[in-house]
This record gives sequence, structure tokens and C-alpha cells, in this order.
Amino acid sequence: MTETMDISITKAAESKISQVDLDNPQFGKVYSDHMFIADYADGEWKDLRIVPYGNINISPANTTLHYASTIFEGLKANRSANGDVLVFRPEANAKRMQESAVRMCMPPVPQELFMGALDELLRLDSQWVPSAPGTALYIRPFQLAMDPYIGIRPSDTYQFLIITGPVGAYYAEPVKVKIETNYTRAAKGGTGFAKTGGNYAAALKPAVDAQKEGFNQLIWTDAKTHEYVEESGTMNLMFIKNDTLLTAPTGDTILRGITRDSIIQLAKDKGMKVEERPIKVTEVIESIKDGSMQEAFGAGTAATVAQIKMIHHEGTDYNLPPVEGWKYSTDFLDTLNKIKTGAIPDPHSWIHKI
Ligand SMILES: *Cc1c(COP(=O)(O)O)cnc(C)c1O
Repeated sequence: MTETMDISITKAAESKISQVDLDNPQFGKVYSDHMFIADYADGEWKDLRIVPYGNINISPANTTLHYASTIFEGLKANRSANGDVLVFRPEANAKRMQESAVRMCMPPVPQELFMGALDELLRLDSQWVPSAPGTALYIRPFQLAMDPYIGIRPSDTYQFLIITGPVGAYYAEPVKVKIETNYTRAAKGGTGFAKTGGNYAAALKPAVDAQKEGFNQLIWTDAKTHEYVEESGTMNLMFIKNDTLLTAPTGDTILRGITRDSIIQLAKDKGMKVEERPIKVTEVIESIKDGSMQEAFGAGTAATVAQIKMIHHEGTDYNLPPVEGWKYSTDFLDTLNKIKTGAIPDPHSWIHKI
């Protein structure tokens, strides 16, 4: 179906792959040989092309540079034992990017365009998909307004691009997080559910401050009361309490993570109890204190599962039980890795083979 899409291909004169240690890629440092670009103008997507990875030309008056009219996605491709390139749930990313686009007043990229571009790009750069355990090809689709206009209104022109690059593990060890009760990431009616640039720019200072204090990440709380935990910087937040999987419901302020959704499904498959409900900070703290909190972890594409060994709240460190004994999150990570690499069956048709 997507084979018929008209994408022009200009190949890189020389591949950079021999200069890259594919077994030990650093997150976000290296990009593959090619990128995909499509232009939007006159109400349609056109000039679909794959070109050598490189700089793009932008007017200093480009509206995105001034007003953050930009959205993105993040997903991964893995290599299976028999050499296939397997992408995890790309249709879900295509759909979420459309939802972000609607919120940001951008023309949604049609699913066929998203999938067709991805297929063609990964076919061309398939040798960039690493195979060492813990590695993957990170895929970054994004869309930006292109009008050279510094007035405030939706742009008439846009670009949709995809770049990719090999990555290793995001967090090598269990993380320490701080519950943020001063700054706010997202408020009701805002853009928290959209993967849009401004959310991340606004979250930088709180995150950097927390890092200076020795924490890897923040746990955001609700904007109004700071009494409920919401999510982490680039991960949804999950807990195991009394053998139940506990996570906050998504909505305006919490991004609908695909890893989150996948883990909820795996938990249900295993017959586990799952509760999606508002979670109070006091419940988290009390459950750690009384021992009913067994595990805490972040769920997101970059890290898949990032186990949390300590949660800080207003001057006090609360240590979770030793991570070595955690069976649930370890099992979710293991199962997801096996599905992603084709090592076990894929009962929910999550895998898209290139
Ligand atoms: C991308 C992201 C997540 C995780 O989503 P996945 O689809 O699982 O990668 C969670 N929270 C925020 C704010 C994000 O940007």
C-alpha cells in the first residue's frame, strides 16, 4: 500500500556508518545518513523526499523560531535475531501526532504519509538499526510551521520531517526523583497532552534545578493543588502497590504514553489489577512508609521502564525497597524488549515490520 507513495530519494554520497560504534551509541549524538522531508502548502502535503541528513534552511522570521509552533514524536526500531527491522507501534505515534497537531492549529499529517515515509526511510537506512542488547534506532518525526512571518496566526506552510539515530540505554541505573511542588508543567486547558516544544522548554529550569540537587528527574504534580502526582519529564509514572498497577489517568495535563498504554495492556494480560485514578502525593509517601508500595517506575519510549529507587518530597528522601527484588517492572521491561525484538509472540499486533 505505502509502496506506491511518490517519494524522491537523493542518496548520501558516502555513508557515515563506519565512523559510528553501533554497539555503544550515545543517546541523541549520532544521526543516520538520511532524513525525510515533506512540505505543506496550498492545503496539501507535497514534494515528499528523502535527502542526506543535514541542516535545513529557515528564515530568521520563521514563526516556529519565535512562537514554538512545533510538535514531535519519538519511537524506536529494533533488530530481531534474524535481522528484521521491527518498529514498535508506529501507528499509535502517527495518531498521537495528529492529536498534537489539532491542539497546535497545524494540519495533521495523514497516517499513510507518516507510515509511508517511515517505511521508505528505514528501508534506506536499515543498516543503522543496531542489534546489541539495550540498543535501538530512535526515530524522531516532527512538524514545524514554516511561514517567514512574525505575526501571530497559524502558518500557511509547514514541514514534516523524520530523522533517526542509533541509541543505547537512556538511564543506566535506577533513578532518584523529586516531587515538584513549586513549578508547574501543565494545567487544565493547556497543552500538556500534546508533544509540543514549548512544554519541554518551560520544564527545563525546574529539571536542571532538580539535577543540581542530585535528582535525575522530576515528578510533576497538578498545577492547582500540587497534591496529586501526574507524570515525569518524558515518562508516565507507574506504581505497584499491593500487587496492583497504579497510574494517573491521562487527560489535558498528562501525555498519553504508548509505553504506558502497552504496560497497562501487559498487566491486564497477566491478570493483574490495574487502577487508573488520581494519585495523591500523600498516598505515595504513606505507601512507601507502610511498605505497601512495592515498585515505582517511569514508562516512556526513551527508557522503556526506568525504575525509581528514591522519591524526594519537600526535604525528605523516601527510599523504595531494593530494586533487585522488583518482579513486576523487571518483567514488563523484559516482556516489552522481547516483543520489540521479535523474541516472543506479539499478541496485540504492536510490531510493524519494515
Ligand atoms: C513522550 C512522552 C511520554 C512517553 O510517551 P511514550 O509514547 O511512551 O514514549 C510521557 N510523557 C511526556 C511528557 C512525553 O513527552
